[in-house]
Amino acid sequence: ARQAALSSARGPGRTADGHPVPLLANVGGPAELEAAVAAGAEGIGLYRSEFLFLDRAEPPSLEEQTRAYRAAVEAFPGGRVVVRTLDGGADKPLAFLPAAASAEPNPALGERGLRRLRRFPEVMDAQLAAVAAVASEDLHVMAPMVATGEEAGWFARACRATRLPHVGVMIEIPSAALRARDLLASVDFVSIGTNDLAQYAFAADRQLGAVSALQDPWQPALLDLVAMAASAAGEAGKPCGVCGESAADPAMACVLVGLGASTLSMGAGALAAVRAALAAHTLAQCRLAADAARARTTPADARAAARAHLPALG
Ligand code: PEP
Ligand code: MG
Repeated sequence: ARQAALSSARGPGRTADGHPVPLLANVGGPAELEAAVAAGAEGIGLYRSEFLFLDRAEPPSLEEQTRAYRAAVEAFPGGRVVVRTLDGGADKPLAFLPAAASAEPNPALGERGLRRLRRFPEVMDAQLAAVAAVASEDLHVMAPMVATGEEAGWFARACRATRLPHVGVMIEIPSAALRARDLLASVDFVSIGTNDLAQYAFAADRQLGAVSALQDPWQPALLDLVAMAASAAGEAGKPCGVCGESAADPAMACVLVGLGASTLSMGAGALAAVRAALAAHTLAQCRLAADAARARTTPADARAAARAHLPALG
């Protein structure tokens, strides 16, 4: 029994009935790799590449980028590493890129993420080349801030031209969740970013405490958007991860699995509690919890209704 408890404390993520849910880490730079390995992450579900570009007048060299991505792969032998291409603009301003084409009264609605990379394709091409130079089957790439199938197609073509085998996009804009099928037509996987998805679904600035109640991941409308994206991925037979902060809440992690998430990625500190919560509930319980939450109309009620189906969380 002690062995079983130890392996569920350290081993791969799965539900009580054995449904695998790889548990991955969100990593913001090389300094966080060690903690992710120590916490038993099975890989990196979101490698925020911004750290390579912040506070610099020039972009990093190809060699520097390649070194960074290789170090991430080497930290997780056999595990996947999902490198997110540069998510510049809005809450992640970058010194080396010229300002947006015109003044931005609302930077979160401006030229950020993939939109910025489309104006500076040489920056994205250099990132893709650095990922390709690592030449690892375990490396995945995904683009942030994708709004349409056309944008996903543009990104996927650039990645395929660089011969990258695993290409994905984030779903963090409501239009992308509503039409996830269009995005899935050109990529191999999607990953839901609940931080921005909440911001854009509720028109509530993620950096503004005054509207933080609207950022609550238990908002039923957010759960509906996640369900929509996950079921589109299920129909397409492609993986759908969640890499927003909501995956770090053990009860929400069970609900996300119930909604159809195939992997969860979070800060390393949350992995143990999420692993334990999944190991204590069956996939059927997770689905019941998800249905119960979506049947309610407020975040508090949604959470209480979900927890009623997740007895091990007390
Ligand atoms: C998100 O938006 O949920 C996400 C994971 O990306 P970031 O927090 O880096 O914007
Ligand atoms: Mg985001």
